[in-house]
Amino acid sequence: MKAVVVLSGGQDSATCLALAVKEYGADEVAAITFEYGQRHALETKYAKKLVRHFKVKTHNVVKLDFYKQLTTNALMDKKRKIEKRAGEKCPSTVVEGRNAIFLMSAAVWAKSLGAHVLYTGVSEADYSGYPDCREEFIKAQEKAICLALDYEIRIVTPFMHMSKMDEWAIADKLGIMSLIEKNTLTCYNGIPGEGCGECPSCKLRNRGLNSYKVLKEMTALMEGGDVMLIPTDTVYGLAAHPDHPEAIEKIYALKGRDEKKKIALLCADAEVAARYIGKAAAKIGEKYWPGALTIVAKGEGVRVPDSKLLRELLRRFGGALRVTSANFSGQPPATTTVEAAKLGIEWKIASYPIWDDLPGTASSVWEVKGGKVKVLREGPVKLER
Ligand code: ZN
Repeated sequence: MKAVVVLSGGQDSATCLALAVKEYGADEVAAITFEYGQRHALETKYAKKLVRHFKVKTHNVVKLDFYKQLTTNALMDKKRKIEKRAGEKCPSTVVEGRNAIFLMSAAVWAKSLGAHVLYTGVSEADYSGYPDCREEFIKAQEKAICLALDYEIRIVTPFMHMSKMDEWAIADKLGIMSLIEKNTLTCYNGIPGEGCGECPSCKLRNRGLNSYKVLKEMTALMEGGDVMLIPTDTVYGLAAHPDHPEAIEKIYALKGRDEKKKIALLCADAEVAARYIGKAAAKIGEKYWPGALTIVAKGEGVRVPDSKLLRELLRRFGGALRVTSANFSGQPPATTTVEAAKLGIEWKIASYPIWDDLPGTASSVWEVKGGKVKVLREGPVKLER
């Protein structure tokens, strides 16, 4: 046996199992599932389904009955509310030391099988603040395992620094999107597949899934040289890839915009912005970004938006998109999809429930020339003199 996967039956561990099978082949992979008194006995059922799906023959379901003698939490006690109290680092769902005990136990079994690799789906990027999901802990635990067993074990954490959106991208690449969507159990309320949609775990998973779907649709539209309706952190915008002149022309036609007026760029960060307006002007913007401030220099207007998701999306398209407000020229900017749709643009992307409410205020606009700042339009960002 080459590798052991800690399999809970949720999205992360299911994707780990798929990666391990791809790397070593089903015959060289074993899975281990722990029953520690969690609310949902269903987890084991889903773990078993996944093991069958991937044709993994060795599956160990291990009871850790002692856990409830040591501690309690909202995952093990149905009467406790799933919540995160103000001032507390972790939500009530934290199972103290769970990964420490899981990994040590899995390692003991791995040694008996002759396996040297241990997979776990923990992540410190999109996580709930559990201390035993941090990379620092995993590294220390790997060392502790090797010393405790006098045996070489490597802990593989494919998602340690990955957002849920990227995890869905991996599932898509592996061809297991629908398996993960329908046949895993991630929800704290024990509802398989889509889940309850309300608990913190569902929210993370669904936001990641919707973000990924948006990204996929955006990519398809972009590659076809199309225009997109996207929510920015100020108003709804029409977006086009800077390298697709036909898409940019389409925006002018849709808005009835004067072709002499250049369309501003939304940039992922100040470094990308510098490509268009130069380093000196970008440095001035950097003090106020991300936020509702457009800097005009060298004939271009650029802004780094406040929305983390939007910046992440921009990064995937080379760092920048040309974006202008989604309204007919001379009319007030659109702050709802209904208003924006008047342009006759497909608004599916904008309707995904991943975007925060739009404040509806246009950005401040400053022109930078010879190191001096001139305010062209007052707005939410104020110049510090
Ligand atoms: Zn849920």
